[in-house]
Amino acid sequence: MELFDKLGDTIVSVSKDATQKAKDISELARIRMEIHAKQDYINKLYQEIGKMYFEAHKDDEQQEFEDEITLLKDSLEVLADLNRQKNQLKGTVQCTNCGQDMPSEADYCSKCGSKLEKPVKEDPIKVDDCEADDSEQAAEQTADDSENAEQAAVGEEVTQETDSEE
Ligand SMILES: [Zn+2]
Repeated sequence: MELFDKLGDTIVSVSKDATQKAKDISELARIRMEIHAKQDYINKLYQEIGKMYFEAHKDDEQQEFEDEITLLKDSLEVLADLNRQKNQLKGTVQCTNCGQDMPSEADYCSKCGSKLEKPVKEDPIKVDDCEADDSEQAAEQTADDSENAEQAAVGEEVTQETDSEE
């Protein structure tokens, strides 16, 4: 009986260990998930702050982050141009509200329901009007693209920073 008792004790303590380990592992997984979620949240806030700063100071004469702002402005222009090229090749029009690509024939965005602003077809009689419309459209498109680019650019930077701190 003594042997059985001892064996019983050992089995109980081993299974307790295993249970504790399983608990630790699931606790670790839970904490890791929380860390990730919190990091994402912090990155989004950084991104928002960066975006707000950019919007508020992009046209300042004396800029505190002049190099970064210049890089961002240049990237936004390149991105806008790439998007224009993409839309032309795909025969799509990009929703100025949410960025969704829609077929050129569509009148409304299927994602957010906004009315789509279409490139004005060239009309030889009203050349002046067309040019005015085109530049207005381009300006709006740039504004929309810049929002996406800002998020991408700032998000990338923030991620890198956070990673190096780990
Ligand atoms: Zn949309």
